[in-house]
Amino acid sequence: MGFSDEDRKQMKRALKLAGRGAGYVAPNPMVGCVICSREGDVIGEGYHERYGQNHAEINALNSIKDRSDLVDATVYVSLEPCSHHGKTPPCAHELAKYPLKRVVVAMTDPNPEVDGKGLMHLKANGITVETGLLEEEARKLNEVFIYNIRFGKPFVILKVAQTLDGFIAAADGDSRWISSQKAREMVHRWRSEYDAVLVGRNTALLDNPKLTVRLVNGRQPRRIVLDGSGALPTDLHLFSDIHEDKTIRVTYRKEQVAEGTEAALNMLQPDYFRGKTIYVSELNGHCNLEQAIHKIGELGISSILVEAGNNLASALVRENLVDKLQLFVAPKMLGGGTRSFLGLGIERMSEIIEFKSPRWTQTGEDMLFTGYF
Ligand SMILES: [Zn+2]
Repeated sequence: MGFSDEDRKQMKRALKLAGRGAGYVAPNPMVGCVICSREGDVIGEGYHERYGQNHAEINALNSIKDRSDLVDATVYVSLEPCSHHGKTPPCAHELAKYPLKRVVVAMTDPNPEVDGKGLMHLKANGITVETGLLEEEARKLNEVFIYNIRFGKPFVILKVAQTLDGFIAAADGDSRWISSQKAREMVHRWRSEYDAVLVGRNTALLDNPKLTVRLVNGRQPRRIVLDGSGALPTDLHLFSDIHEDKTIRVTYRKEQVAEGTEAALNMLQPDYFRGKTIYVSELNGHCNLEQAIHKIGELGISSILVEAGNNLASALVRENLVDKLQLFVAPKMLGGGTRSFLGLGIERMSEIIEFKSPRWTQTGEDMLFTGYF
């Protein structure tokens, strides 16, 4: 199928619009939509702005002044229009009310409730449907959504900032700042886009992080802290600042209590803490990580950005619980200190971790590695 430069330009615009929903639409996908008249003029556009609100196609239709312009119009949408009755009426049905010429989509919706049915409905109404324009970009934009649908659990991103020689902190434990201002801004952007940020007990205790979005404008994330033995001091930022209700504490302290009594346990929670506590089993003196991620997913959290030290980072990698690595390498050396990773349980070259789709980009003075496990 041949797409024109004009098609590409409009789909690029639709994808750009879709990205504006980052941080606000999960667990829904980000979707953008551009509508062009028969003459090729943009007559409407929109995107899915917030979870529970209008889908992109509806916002684009609503932005059109004169709906008679929709005769022989072309609709560009970054994801297949939905066909199921969710929180809003199905977009494929809404679009099919008009005598459109073409609907161009970047990718089909992997949600089994849609999965081609939206396109079929459009075709059945005499509208030409073309798919696959800028599909790779569309899949990358919605990698979290696609992963959630496929695996039914949160997508886990591990962020590391290290020196050229592989250290994340000096011998005295100080890690501020290894990466550049630009890199730190990027991390704050991620915090505003992913659902939650996770740290382990040591990081919470030694760095007393806020894990909030401050260097850029954006939505504040949920904050998750692994507090296995429940002994973290209550005056940490995570437990006492104005975003305290966004903090989720994971502990195994009461693991002996039977399943199904968590509501009761939450009521027993000390009154100093207005966040949420979830209970997992203990595994070798630590929280059972796989269970923790599963339970975090049950809270409706679809993506977790891990900003952990080397203990937790290594454990997550060893247990195969990380999906994407974002590793900054700063043009600095320490010659000693805390290594970014401890043992990963690898002894032979045949067990080496080789990343999928590896990519290196420059961010300020740092290099950023992106790869998938
Ligand atoms: Zn829809």
